Amino acid sequence: MARENCGRENGVSGKVYIVGAGPGDPELLTLRAARILGRAGVVLHDALVSAEVLGLAARDAVRIDVGKRCGQKLLTQEDINALLIAYARSYEVVVRLKGGDPAIFGRTGEEITALRDAGVQFEIVPGITASIAAAAAAGISLTDRRRASQVLLMTMHRGAGGADFRLDGVSTDTTIAIYMPGPDYALVAERLREAGWPGDMPCAIVSNVSRENQKIRATQLGRLAEEEALAAPALILVGRVVAGDADAFAAGWVEAVMAERLGWRSGAAE
Ligand code: SAH
Repeated sequence: MARENCGRENGVSGKVYIVGAGPGDPELLTLRAARILGRAGVVLHDALVSAEVLGLAARDAVRIDVGKRCGQKLLTQEDINALLIAYARSYEVVVRLKGGDPAIFGRTGEEITALRDAGVQFEIVPGITASIAAAAAAGISLTDRRRASQVLLMTMHRGAGGADFRLDGVSTDTTIAIYMPGPDYALVAERLREAGWPGDMPCAIVSNVSRENQKIRATQLGRLAEEEALAAPALILVGRVVAGDADAFAAGWVEAVMAERLGWRSGAAE
């Protein structure tokens, strides 16, 4: 698709870049995202975006945390849409910065509709979504011709369309990444068991991937309900590909690799 998605209408001169900030580590940002951030007049970002990534925005850029409570109230999606359109009238480069990839559980669809309706030009800049980064951090291949032929990205969160989710018919050669699992993993475990997934199916809970407080816990479906929740943001990977790495988690291998790469203090990741 052409980069210029919409024409210039209604006297709107700026362009909105809906940019993926990746999971946290600025090294996981695309070069394009970094370059556009450097040209930003205004950045509207979510709470999940790391300070290091925000730091790449032009020094004089206006930064607005649209994920933060404003007094008592949280900005609604409609408020954010209206802000994007309004800023596109006064700034050439408007950045809508979202954690991970903007098109995965990011409400980008609603923003695109609003921008199109208002005749505002926009471009989506993809980012590394949390599940892809989580698998990489845990040394897991999400697909593997010996164990998994498909990947399912899904959510438990009602607001994101996860209400009453069903896993019936999802075969066990699938790797499932569950976003926004909430603090109670029992429902995830229950739905998977109902769909016929065995209790010894390997799972990994991955919290704060690519950040200093990253944690990875290996477990099994049969034990998932009792696992203590890890700090948000966290996601759960379930599937046969997760197997085989449990020993590595236990041995602290993941932390050791991250420590070496990012110069973390030993033990800081735990
Ligand atoms: N657009 C984002 C997802 C937004 S929904 C993306 O593509 O990653 C928010 C959920 O994403 C969180 O509840 C969590 O499940 C997951 N998530 C985001 N960042 C994460 C991180 N650094 N580590 C683990 N999970 C993360």
